[in-house]
Amino acid sequence: MQKPIIAISSCLLGQRVRYDGEIKSFADITQHLQQYFDLLPVCPEVEIGLGVPRPAVQLTGNPSHPRMTGRDNPEIDVTTAMRVYCATKPQQLTNICGYVFKSKSPSCGLKNIPVFNNGIVIDDNQRGLFAQRITELWPKLPVCDETDLLTAQSRQQFIERVLAYRKLLNP
Ligand code: SF4
Repeated sequence: MQKPIIAISSCLLGQRVRYDGEIKSFADITQHLQQYFDLLPVCPEVEIGLGVPRPAVQLTGNPSHPRMTGRDNPEIDVTTAMRVYCATKPQQLTNICGYVFKSKSPSCGLKNIPVFNNGIVIDDNQRGLFAQRITELWPKLPVCDETDLLTAQSRQQFIERVLAYRKLLNP
């Protein structure tokens, strides 16, 4: 039987997509997951046309409907591009059985993402815009970030959640 497909933030696979142009390896996690799943890389920021390297972005404004603007240059505003991406990209992901997000990202972060107003954190418990969209759209989809996969036990639990979800989709 074909392995289940899970989406994964491209930078976790060591792809050169990060804002700072650096490559960070999470090979121990991704090689483990590859034994069980086909990994589908997704990088929202590159896919909306931002370059590598690029100016860092952050969430700003109203925490319930944040904007995505430049961390060092507030005149950079990619909110509309990211919202359009969030509305359309999931159509390409309808066959995924899980998603491993990169932590601490205003696009991909699953938890504790700060929202700034005039340089001050006014909320530190939001999700990145794309992670928010995916979890709203598919609330039962198994999701985690790389910090949730540091132990053999936590990896096994995630693998079992993904396999159970696939069974739910294909009884
Ligand atoms: S965290 Fe998300 S948007 Fe940022 S580089 Fe990784 S995949 Fe791309």
